Amino acid sequence: MPSLTEDLDVRLAELRAAGLHRELRRIDSRQGTRLHIDGRELVNFSSNDYLGLTGHPALAEAASRALRDWGCGSTASRLVCGSLAPHHELEARLADWKQTGAALSFATGYSAALGTIPALVGTGDIVVVDRLVHACCVDAARQSGAQLRVFRHNDLARLADILKWADGLGRNPRPRVLVVTESVFSMDGDRAPLRELVELKDRHGAWLMLDEAHAGGLLGTRRAGLADAEGLTARIEVQMGTLGKALGCAGGYIAGSSSLVEFLINRARTLIFSTAPPPSTVAAASCAIDLVRGPEGAERCLRTWSLAEGLAAGLPPSAQPATPASAILPWHVGDERRAVRQASALRDVGFFVPAIRHPTVGRGAARLRFTVTAAHTPEEVARVTAALSTLTLSL
Ligand SMILES: *Cc1c(COP(=O)(O)O)cnc(C)c1O
Repeated sequence: MPSLTEDLDVRLAELRAAGLHRELRRIDSRQGTRLHIDGRELVNFSSNDYLGLTGHPALAEAASRALRDWGCGSTASRLVCGSLAPHHELEARLADWKQTGAALSFATGYSAALGTIPALVGTGDIVVVDRLVHACCVDAARQSGAQLRVFRHNDLARLADILKWADGLGRNPRPRVLVVTESVFSMDGDRAPLRELVELKDRHGAWLMLDEAHAGGLLGTRRAGLADAEGLTARIEVQMGTLGKALGCAGGYIAGSSSLVEFLINRARTLIFSTAPPPSTVAAASCAIDLVRGPEGAERCLRTWSLAEGLAAGLPPSAQPATPASAILPWHVGDERRAVRQASALRDVGFFVPAIRHPTVGRGAARLRFTVTAAHTPEEVARVTAALSTLTLSL
């Protein structure tokens, strides 16, 4: 057997040859629209801080106050002795924002999915996922031991076929069927046809888990997500999301009925066996929800949508959506090496735009993923689209 290092060096060389090698880029400035990388300032079009809240002084103030009042860490799992008042206050706010009976916070969105899906379904049950759902839901579905079925992205006819197949199994007891999708897809920026999807799963008596990671803060009258925008909250069994994107903090959540939350407290292993998130980030997240729901959130949200329209209009014609469905605007390139070259060419002229490649997206489906935030200026958006038109000609 080769040594571990020899083995890894061979595999790293394979990744490099395929244009799939990744590296961490050190950033010497706080997260914002301007990043300092390798001694240069770049305009950042890669962040999920859609409302520009991460640097907001009110969040820093809430976090510092909690740090002083509650200390640095939570010291234990919520079930042992880590269930501090700030966590309970956050969950009350989340439930009120999402208009669900209850909510439960997790250390990350990833751990929310990983704790929830295997708690709700297991061997003998069925999980049906959109082909483009986030890795955390795929990993969670696999870990659950339930049978995993995948439907083509947003293809409700294919989903209907799978639900009909599940109905026809005639097993006793009837398997639980959990459908998992995203409201706004993280790497494509498009939306699920939520109303039709809810009608469909209801007709088949299946349950729906909706990942609102990229819709929270941007959609709906309370800016709580697509379920809020479509008035469908009461018909969705499980909503999940992150506190790390539009809310500018860190953590994840599940929102749903009080029975769901009570059950997860008893069965979600990532909640039970992990130290509770620090009170400071939890307090900052509570503050962020208040901001998002208030007039400042409304104003920031409008600004983000208007910048998204500006950027969409400046993308190469083949990549232009009629109207943006979210703050995520991908430019599909296909070839991994070409995407890396284009990202690098954009960096050379002062813009940071990530080349998204396998395994985040399928092989040969590489893209540049632009995101806008309320902290960008219309001038920055105009400059990047001007740079893009030169680039399309030259690469
Ligand atoms: C980022 C993301 C998550 C995970 O949330 P974290 O808080 O970053 O762990 C889950 N789902 C989707 C769609 C995401 O984009």
